[in-house]
Amino acid sequence: MTSQEIKSNILTTTVESAINWSRKNSLWPMPFGTACCGIEMMAALAARTDIARFGAEAIRFSPRQSDLLLVAGRITIKMMPVLTRIYEQMPEPKWVISMGACASSGGVFDTYSVIQGVDQFIPVDVYVPGCPPRPEGVLDGLMKLQDLVERERLSDYSVSTPV
Ligand code: SF4
Repeated sequence: MTSQEIKSNILTTTVESAINWSRKNSLWPMPFGTACCGIEMMAALAARTDIARFGAEAIRFSPRQSDLLLVAGRITIKMMPVLTRIYEQMPEPKWVISMGACASSGGVFDTYSVIQGVDQFIPVDVYVPGCPPRPEGVLDGLMKLQDLVERERLSDYSVSTPV
């Protein structure tokens, strides 16, 4: 084998890059749809939009098997503990997409019973604007999340030993 053949047949990378590449292309969403945004979320998951192209078609309804929480719709004060519990049951690493105005800010429901943004209780990585966002907007948010996952450092998840 010539040196040119060797060069064209060897791929070098880092463990971090390989792990991030596999994570970003195999996100397992946990859908949490509560209102009209939930309908658009279903459309985003259906064949026309084909979220499988982004490796995120393995929808799980068990938080323990998911790494992407997709919050779609308004969240009431009574519902927030449920959402928080689901988030806490998801194993690390995990990410959150807030889909639509209601999930991100309460939207037009500026009332005592509606959470004015789920990021007051759980960390949100990507916000998808709209009322409701179109399925293409959800895909755009997913691609933005993939960019974030690609740039993550494994050290962000390391557990430091107390001295
Ligand atoms: S953002 Fe609009 S479409 Fe989405 S849940 Fe709120 S009112 Fe419904």
